[in-house]
Formats: sequence, C-alpha cells, structure tokens
Amino acid sequence: MRILGLGLALAAVVALAGCQKGGAGNVDAKRLEAAATNAEWISYGKDYNEQRFSPLDKVNASNVKDLGLAWYAEFDTDRGQEATPLMIDGVLYTSTAWSKVFAFDAKSGKLLWKFDPKIEGAKGFDACCDVVNRGVAVWKGKVYVGTIDGRLIALDAKTGKVAWSQQTTDTSRPYTITGAPRVVKDKVFIGNGGAEYGVRGYISAYDAASGKLLWRFFTTPNPNGQPDGAASDKVMAEKAAATWSDGEWKQTGGGGTVWDSMAYDPQLDIMYFGIGNGTPWNHMKRSGGKGDNLFLSSILALKPDTGEYVWHYQTTPGESWDYTATQHIMLADLNIGGQTKKVLMQAPKNGFFYVIDRANGKLLSAKPYTNITWATGVDPATGRPIENPAARYQTSMVMQVPGPLGAHNWQPMAFNPKTGLVYIPLNVTPFAYADDKGQGYKPGAWNVGVDFVINSLPTDQAQLAALQSLIKGQLVAWDPVQQKAVWTVDHPYFWNAGVLSTAGGLVFQGAAEGQFSAYDAASGKALWSYKTGNGVIAAPMTYELGGEQYVAVMVGVGGGGQISAPASMPTRPRLPGRLLVFKVGGTAKAPDFPAPAQPPALDVANITTTGDAQHGFELFHKNCQVCHGPNASGAWLPDLKRSPMIMTADNFKGVVIDGASASRGMASFSRFLSAKDAEDIRAYILVEARKAAQGGVAAAPTPAG
Ligand code: CA
Repeated sequence: MRILGLGLALAAVVALAGCQKGGAGNVDAKRLEAAATNAEWISYGKDYNEQRFSPLDKVNASNVKDLGLAWYAEFDTDRGQEATPLMIDGVLYTSTAWSKVFAFDAKSGKLLWKFDPKIEGAKGFDACCDVVNRGVAVWKGKVYVGTIDGRLIALDAKTGKVAWSQQTTDTSRPYTITGAPRVVKDKVFIGNGGAEYGVRGYISAYDAASGKLLWRFFTTPNPNGQPDGAASDKVMAEKAAATWSDGEWKQTGGGGTVWDSMAYDPQLDIMYFGIGNGTPWNHMKRSGGKGDNLFLSSILALKPDTGEYVWHYQTTPGESWDYTATQHIMLADLNIGGQTKKVLMQAPKNGFFYVIDRANGKLLSAKPYTNITWATGVDPATGRPIENPAARYQTSMVMQVPGPLGAHNWQPMAFNPKTGLVYIPLNVTPFAYADDKGQGYKPGAWNVGVDFVINSLPTDQAQLAALQSLIKGQLVAWDPVQQKAVWTVDHPYFWNAGVLSTAGGLVFQGAAEGQFSAYDAASGKALWSYKTGNGVIAAPMTYELGGEQYVAVMVGVGGGGQISAPASMPTRPRLPGRLLVFKVGGTAKAPDFPAPAQPPALDVANITTTGDAQHGFELFHKNCQVCHGPNASGAWLPDLKRSPMIMTADNFKGVVIDGASASRGMASFSRFLSAKDAEDIRAYILVEARKAAQGGVAAAPTPAG
C-alpha cells in the first residue's frame, strides 16, 4: 500500500521536475516537506527527516550490475571530500574541501558556475579534521554554504554570485565550519567546530533573505557567569550552569560545538541539533571531574522561530573521551510494541544506538551497536550510561573502544522504511586514554588534556601488527526496534563512507580503500562495485531526470580519520577530488589517476642535528602527530621523513617557526614551540627517516581500489 502510493506520487512529481516556476533553486517549505517522496535531493539528508532514503527504484537488484559512469567532474583540491550533492530542477549543487561551491547540469555534467570563498591557507591549522565541507542548502533562489573560516555565505542559485555574507564566529578564536547549513521557515541554521582547540559552541539562525542574525543558542555557560542576551540564557540559568564546576572550561569556552547534525519535525515544529565534546576532553581538567556539563554530548530540541529550549537528552554525561553527539540525527515513525512512535534515532560516537521519543526527549531504548568497553549499558530509568569505573583514566591509562574517532562519526547513515533497517557506517578504533599530566591550556593549540605521546605506534612489528588487526570498518544493518544487527559487511580499513538507501532495495556505500559499492538492502549481499582509484568517505545521493535514475558520489579521501590514525590506513598520495555520477548503461570513462608519485627517499645518513631526539619525540606526538601521523608515519598529510625541509635546520625552522608554508595550510607554530623545540623535533624525524631507510616501522599497505 505504501509502495503503491509512493509510486503514484512519484510519477506526478517526476512529471513536474524541470518545470518548477520561480527560477533556479526554488525550494520552499511545501517542497521540502514533500521531499521524502520526490525524485530529487533537495536538502542535505534528502528531507527534513534526514532519512537518506530515495523512493526511486529504476536502479534495483536486477540491473545495478549495469551501472556505469554517466559523467564525472574533477576538482582543484586534493583534500577530503565529504559533501552530499543536492539536485534541484535539473541542477546539481555540491561543495568541496576549502568550502568551494559548484553547480552542474545534472544530466550532462556541464559546469554552470563555481564559487571560491578564497580561504587563507593558514586557517587549515584550525581544522582538527581536514578542511572539509559537507554540503550546501538551497532555499528560494539562494545557495548557502558555511566556510572553514566561519562565514555563512548566500549565493545566487542561478549565477553563483554572492548575495550576502556573514562572519558567524569570533575570528580571534579557532572556530571552523564544516557542516551543511539547513533552512527551516526562512531561517538558515549553522553551527561550528573547534572543540579540540578551545571554543564555546553555539547554534545561530540567520534570516535567509537578508542574512540578519535572528537568534543564537549557546551550548555551554558563559565563563564570566553573565547572561549572553541569547536564546539560551533561561535554560542555562535553570538547568545547565549548575552542572559545571571550576576548571579549564572557563578559559577554553568548554566546547560543545554543533558541527554536523540537524533535523526538523514540521508537525511538532521542533528542530533537533547534535552537540559535540568538551574542551578539554578530560573531564577532570575541564570541570574538576564534577558535573554533567550540559549540553555537551547532547541532543538539543529547540523551537526554530526563537531558539527556545524544548528538551535535551545527554548521551555522555561528564564527557571525557571526545564522545560527541553530533552524529547523524534521523527522524522516523516506528512501530514499537504495537504503537506508532515518532522517534529520533542516533548512533553517536560512544557506541550506543539511541531511540528517543522526539516529542519529549524520553529514552525509548539504547543498546550498543558495536563492541564497547567504556560502559556496560544504559539505565532505562535514568537514561544514563553505566560506566566502567576505569574508563575515566585518572589513575592509570585505559585502552578503550571506541576511541576519539568514535564507533560512528559524521558519515551519514541511511534508513529504509521497507526493511525497517538503519545502515550504519561503523569504525572499530581502540585508543589509549591517559591524563596528559597537567599540560594546561594553551590558547589556539590542541587542548584535549589527553596524552598523545602514548598513542605513538609500537616499534615492535608484532605489536604493530596486533594493533592494526584490531582496527577495521563495517557497514551494519541495524534493526532499531529490536536493537540488533541484521547483517554486517566488514571493510579492511575503518573510516568507510556515508550511506544511501533506495526503494530499489539497494544500499550504496563507498570505502576508504577506494571502491564504491551497492549491496542488497535485505541481505547485505554485494551486487556491484566500481573502483574509483581514490578513497571514498562521502555519502552518495540519487535523483531522476529525463526518465533515468542517477547515483552520485563525491570521491576523495581525507577527514579526521585519514589524518589522525594512519596506522591502519593505506599509504596513498593525495589525489584531486572527483564527483562521479552513474546510471544504468552509462559509458563515460574517468581517466585513471596518475601513478602515485612518492617523493624520493632522502639520504639522511650524513645529516647532522644539534637537537634532542627524545624531547623531539614527545613534542612531535603532542604537536604534530594529529596531522602527520604517529611516529612520523605521514600516511596522508606530508610524510616528513621524505620532506626536503628536514635536510637543514634553517629550512625546518623556516616552515615550523617562520610559517614558510602557511599558504598551504601549515601555519607557524611559533606560538607553541621555540626554535630549539623545532630542532628537537627535526632530530626525532631524522631518527625515523633513518629507520625507514632500513625498512622500519611506518610501512603500510598500498591502495586497493
Ligand atoms: Ca571532537
């Protein structure tokens, strides 16, 4: 019955596609509220429910084997590509790393316009997890993008010309924007990131037509104890402020950034936002180990018109592990115990799958969707996790899953109302948590209060292999009513891509290894695969145009996982991002990428240094490893062992202290390191370079796809 109804509605909408009145990007509330059943893709998660389920079924299990490339585009950036493209009235809009926006003819692939916000390269330093962008929003003739330097920009959907631009952040703090804006009731909603460094998180609502700021909701209290004159003031005073105690949050701002998920229920007129981790991560340092620290790691329900608080659910009280609740928020109506419930579903980093009554925030169920060691369950009466007492790592180090990359990160899930399953891109990544022994807050620097030196790689090959064998990715089909896995596909590497589900009974997902695949939605059987020659982390989308169904995906590996945990990742060169668009019988060919050009190994045998390599090892793992890999393994951002800059002390200091490579994203570290420190780091990298010349630790597999 549902399927038949959907088919008829679809036929009507398809007939209309391409002849919408009012010019380019003419999306309004009526169109967005009907988006779940149409043949386009007009909002980040397809529709307000963010289910990422398309009713299209022309591509299905019987013909997906004939899927071929219809067209492709190549971009001018080789960093991570995380965007979900939109397709509206025959135009495909997408964004790339460095917050650039592109519009294409969705049938032919012809470029219609492009927009470059011209980000200063040194700003890349403030992006914990790559200079990525997850997509745009479209509303009444404008295209909205949040930029890595904190601007919200409205572009004319027809020309790409700037209609208005607002700086949404304090540029003296390390704020970034990577998430896609959403538009509800003529308001553009945008959050920000930066909680690994030290910022205070908030959500802003701007008038879609003029760019005027309408309201702001802070997710942590004002460190000066005063009201902000913001939508959050009342609930801060009544509920949140008392959950914070003395600690570094008063300097850092406490974190709680809102860097990804949003959803909207038009009947309840409630918007839902996912809130991030604390700054520093370490609860003892942040808040003296006291209090829940609202609204960190929470789901917040607010009124879109005013920002008025409706309810919250905190997934990880007193967060201490980078367990954000910014992950994908999905709304659905589920039959639970014979009753239809309006639910909100989330699989945040902490490893529990939550089903919540979205009218009132009441927990309906929560179960681990993967093996976790930090907690044994969630108390159904209080909604609080039952923690493993060792998990808070204050007296000794604890090796734990999940780690800071989460059991699930930003990679979007997808729902299929026919199978009733949620498809989760899952990571298995252990991490050794230990207090960093009183480092203290350093403005602008990495401020997590956790020891990264102990997360260097074991130099013993057997230990390294044992560690690598623990790490993997999975695609899990999860029954949210029964709270159990129905099928699982294993990926050799973690950081596998976002997911699309369709009425054709298919689940599409790429992988860091490089392939883009289709699976049977009911069984997980692999039905089709395409080698992209690069890694895939973004979520695919689909649309119908001129009677044909297309499937599109952004290709380009990168992001936090690729940057910060290369121990299990293939060594690969950075390749230009691409947009690949497929259809049944497509015959286009994307040229192979040029053969990986590994910089030549350096002859460092006779290079001298006055530095202290042991001190350099510590400094490297505190300051450099997040981008350049543990043990200078450098799987993704430049492999410093092969960088000519290590050949002389002057060249190395020129980059690290004087900022010679700032325009390429390597900002000066003079705020955090002395020239002597830089030479100590160089001495350590030279040790690793000599080891590598003898076949040492950082050997990693080559790309598979
Ligand atoms: Ca984080």
